[in-house]
Amino acid sequence: MTKTSILDTGKLQDFAKERKLQPFRVKQIYQEIFKNQNIDFADMTTLSKDLRDDLEKDFSVVTLKADKIIEDKFTTKIWFQTQDGCMIEAVIIYHWQNEKHNINDQEKLNRITLCISSQVGCAMGCIFCVTGKLGFKRNLTRDEMVSQILFANNFIKKKLWKQEDGSLHGVRNIVFMWMGEPLLNYDNVKKSIEIMLRQEAGFSLSKRHITISTCGIVPGIRKLIKDGITVKLAISLHAPNQVLRDKLMPIAKAYPLDELTKVIGEYVKATDNRVFYEYIMIRNMTDTPEVARQLVTLLRKKLAHVNLIPYNTNPAIQLEESDVKTIQNFKRILEEGGLTVTVRDNMGRKMKWACGQLGYEKIMKDKEEE
Ligand code: SF4
Repeated sequence: MTKTSILDTGKLQDFAKERKLQPFRVKQIYQEIFKNQNIDFADMTTLSKDLRDDLEKDFSVVTLKADKIIEDKFTTKIWFQTQDGCMIEAVIIYHWQNEKHNINDQEKLNRITLCISSQVGCAMGCIFCVTGKLGFKRNLTRDEMVSQILFANNFIKKKLWKQEDGSLHGVRNIVFMWMGEPLLNYDNVKKSIEIMLRQEAGFSLSKRHITISTCGIVPGIRKLIKDGITVKLAISLHAPNQVLRDKLMPIAKAYPLDELTKVIGEYVKATDNRVFYEYIMIRNMTDTPEVARQLVTLLRKKLAHVNLIPYNTNPAIQLEESDVKTIQNFKRILEEGGLTVTVRDNMGRKMKWACGQLGYEKIMKDKEEE
């Protein structure tokens, strides 16, 4: 029998009433989960043994099962299995003051970011992305998205324990940037953000520490503005003109660049937030000096930051990665044009961890089985 999610506050209140628990007990249970970063009732030692046993019978904290975990110095990649047998992924990124330091050198850890999935697969079909090749299966629920954070916080606690100020190490930034297009799962993403922001029975994160990355779903951006969800926005732009964007991203036909630019302007006006533009560097396609100059024209004088993402060559896709010199030249043109630019560290390259590499293992496995 499937247990009830502990995030169902109504059901937990009913459970508390039935057992005539003091009102503060519900608060205490949520503190164990969100503050003490526990996901096993057995570890919630501020609760009585009887209460822990009763909770165990009826409720689950994390609704996903971690299937596989792989780590390197800067990242932990977690494959989760959903209750209906789907596979999704999340990635923890450790930001070190000095990136040469070892992961065990806790004092040098600046902050931790978690990239989460919002859908099983993706319907967008961007030509450089392996996840797009998997197709779309279904939206993730609110609890499945929150479960990725709960699991990550527990994992980080066990791995790194406490910071110098005595608080536990945990996820400080959340990015909807792994599998799926979050603005096509708007209602559940919105509900999960509510839990990220709230103080009680939530993660108490600031809006500045949550980012939605979208391939450019114009109505979704409009809804964010209307609903006052002023989290950060990252746009998977990847091309500064309509012709090139059409080639790379089928969604560009539904929401052309001029419409996208217009709604981003509305978002900036409403929030005063800087927008992050994700831009993939593909040899002889998106990385030429002419295209760089077009990007300058598109974004000059806008509240914008460009992240250049080196494309990772992948046997499942017929595209080539840009060389380092070309990327540096592209960056120089953008900077001379007045844009702020970061070249994304392509950490975990060998492990196919970067954008567009998702689902790589599954595709290769399917190919072997054909
Ligand atoms: S890049 Fe993002 S939006 Fe495009 S197919 Fe991949 S997961 Fe979907």
